[in-house]
Amino acid sequence: MSFLPELTIAAALDGLAAKDFSALELTRAHISAIESLDPQLNAFITQTPELALEMAGAADAARAAGSAGPLSGIPLAIKDLFCVEGVRTTAASKILENFVPPYESTVTAQLKAAGAVFLGKANLDEFAMGSSNTTSGFGAVTNPWQRNGSNAKLVPGGSSGGSAAAVASRMAMGATGTDTGGSIRQPASFTGITGIKPTYGRCSRYGIVAFASSLDQAGPMARSVEDCAILLGAMSGFDARDSTSAERPVADFRAAAKRGVKGLRIGIPAEYRMDGMSAEIEGLWQKGVAWLREQGAEIVDVSLPHTKYGLPVYYIVAPAEASSNLARYDGVRFGTRVDGEDLIDMYERTRAAGFGAEVKRRIMIGTYVLSAGYYDAYYLKAQKIRALILRDFTEAFAKVDALLTPTAPSAAFGIGEKTDDPVTMYLNDVFTVPASLAGVPAMSVPAGLDAQGLPLGLQIIGRHFDEETVFAVGGALEKAAGFSALPAIRAGGAK
Ligand code: GLN
Repeated sequence: MSFLPELTIAAALDGLAAKDFSALELTRAHISAIESLDPQLNAFITQTPELALEMAGAADAARAAGSAGPLSGIPLAIKDLFCVEGVRTTAASKILENFVPPYESTVTAQLKAAGAVFLGKANLDEFAMGSSNTTSGFGAVTNPWQRNGSNAKLVPGGSSGGSAAAVASRMAMGATGTDTGGSIRQPASFTGITGIKPTYGRCSRYGIVAFASSLDQAGPMARSVEDCAILLGAMSGFDARDSTSAERPVADFRAAAKRGVKGLRIGIPAEYRMDGMSAEIEGLWQKGVAWLREQGAEIVDVSLPHTKYGLPVYYIVAPAEASSNLARYDGVRFGTRVDGEDLIDMYERTRAAGFGAEVKRRIMIGTYVLSAGYYDAYYLKAQKIRALILRDFTEAFAKVDALLTPTAPSAAFGIGEKTDDPVTMYLNDVFTVPASLAGVPAMSVPAGLDAQGLPLGLQIIGRHFDEETVFAVGGALEKAAGFSALPAIRAGGAK
C-alpha cells in the first residue's frame, strides 16, 4: 500500500472504491501527519480529529451500503472563515476567539453531503486580510517549502495560507479557500499547489465570514488540477440564501481538465509585463506560452489598459466593504466583549482589544473613503474604474478564450519581511486583483522553481462562468510543466 497522504484525491477515490484502504485508514494517516507536522507549520487553528474519525466512519458505512458520495472519505482542511456547525470558527481573529456557529456554511454543507471528512479549521490572515498569513491572531503559518540550503522560515502566502500549507505538506488532500483579491491563487503559487477562484456567484457565500462581499468567493486548493475540479464540482451551485449566488448549471469540471487546448486562443496581456519584473518570472511566463502553443493553442497579444488601477481600486473597495461588514463585531452578539463604562466605551474597548493592526487599518481606510466628504473622490471613483477594468476583460474575451499571466510578482518571502510598509505587502496582489474586481474565474498552477528552489505559479483567467476553459488550460499547463518538486517539510518526507 502506498503512503496514503501522498495520494491525489483522484487516486484516493480509486483506492477507496477498490477497497485498497478504508476512509478510516486514510483519515488516521492524515491525523498523524498533522500531529507530527503542525507544531512546526501552525496551519490549523482548530484540529477536529474526533469529528474527522466520525465522518470517516460514516463514509466507510456509506460506501459499504453502496451510497458513497463523490468525495466519500476524502480528508480536507477547511479555512477558518467557513462556519461549520458546532466547531469553533474564528476568522483568525481574537474577536471571534470563542465563536461556535450554530449553523453551517453552504459550501461545507455541500462537502459534507458529498462525503468529505473535515480534519480541522485552517489558519488564515485575520478576516482574510493579508498576503502572508502573518496577520493571524493565532500566529503565523510556516511555508513547508524552504530555500535551497537554508531553513529560514518563509510565508505560505495569504490569506488562505493555512489551507495551502496543509495541502502542500500532505496534512490534507485538499482544502477550501476564499479569494477576495488573490487569497487562493497567491498562496497556491507560494506553496507549489493548484487553486481556483471560480466566477463570483459560482459558490455560495452563505456562512462564510464576510470580508468584502462584492469580491469574496470560495474555491478549492489541491495538489492537482483534476483534484481542484473534483472539489469545485462539489462546492458549486445555486443557493437561495445568497442573493448573489448564480443560477447556472455546474459543468463537469473534471472532464474539462482533460480537454486540452487545441484550437483555443490564449491572450497575453501586455500590461502584466511590469517594470522590474524578475527575469525568472518573465522566463516562466514565456515557457507557459510555449507549452500552450506546442499543444495547439493560438497565442494572441491583448491589452487590459486599466490594469495599473487594479491595486488602488481594490484597496479602496475592499476596505470600504470590510469597514461595513465588520461593524457587527461590537461585543453585543458575537465573540469577545470587553466591558466599559457605558455602551460606546464597551464597543471601543471590545474593538480595540479584539482586532489586530491590519484589520484596524482597513476599517479606518474604509470608513474614510465612505465618509460624506470623500465618498465621491474615492469610493465612487473606484467603482467607476472597476467598471472599466471589467470592460477591459470583456473586450479581451471577445478576441481570446483565456488569458495567461504570472500569479504573483515573487516567490515566497521570509516571515517578517515586507511588514514595515503595508503598501509593499499590497503589491503582492498586483496580478490577482483585476480578475477579482471583474468577477471572472482564475486559477494558479505550479509551473516551476526559482533559482532558490521555491515554487512559482502561472495564472489562467477565463470568461464569466467558463471555468471549463480555465480547467482545460490548467490541465494542459500542468501536463507540460510536469511539476514534481516536493517541499522540505512534508508527511513521509525528510524533515
Ligand atoms: N491580499 C489581499 C488583501 O489583503 C487579498 C486577500 C484575499 O483575497 N482575501 O486584501
